Amino acid sequence: MQGYILNIFRVRDEDLIVNVLTPNRLRTLYRFYGARHSTIQTGYKIDFEIDSSNASKLPLLRGVSHLGFKWLYNVEKAYLWQNYIKLFYNHLKGVEELGRFYFDLLEDNAKRWEKQNPKRIIIESYTKLLDAEGRLHKDFKCFVCEKEIREEAVLVRGFLPSHKGCVPGKIFTKWRVEELFFNHSSIFLNDDEVNLLYEIVCEGF
Ligand SMILES: [Zn+2]
Repeated sequence: MQGYILNIFRVRDEDLIVNVLTPNRLRTLYRFYGARHSTIQTGYKIDFEIDSSNASKLPLLRGVSHLGFKWLYNVEKAYLWQNYIKLFYNHLKGVEELGRFYFDLLEDNAKRWEKQNPKRIIIESYTKLLDAEGRLHKDFKCFVCEKEIREEAVLVRGFLPSHKGCVPGKIFTKWRVEELFFNHSSIFLNDDEVNLLYEIVCEGF
């Protein structure tokens, strides 16, 4: 089975509780300490087996091999990936059964991470996620006064739009953000705007 490690929690001695995102589930698995085990880290894609023979305890994570990405050797790309994975975990934790959407999104992201700007991948993916969850406000109705936003929009956490007079925050040109919302493309956004949108994503999914 394959999956992405979304979180690692150290328990007694050197044992670990590991949350792994597989195509349809977020699994919580137990890993006994073993000096000969390969080290694992949050964000790794792994191939693994699950031992559920003791039904009263957490299933065990066994036979782990790391399916590495070249870009993990790039400190900045690796850092942005880990930060993105943390946001993912905080959003999904507590849920067990998931559609394929989240796993497939990470598969797509991991492939693009090498060649593209990770911050662009993150903001594009975040709008896909909001869209898939029915939380993307494509109608550009101000969440404060409920009137339409025409030229410039302030975006806050969750990419909720408002008028610049209704809420203080980062201001964006509406049509450029529309391209992001409707086509999940950051092509019309400059690097400063991408950085600002990335900061909003970092406030939490
Ligand atoms: Zn308003």
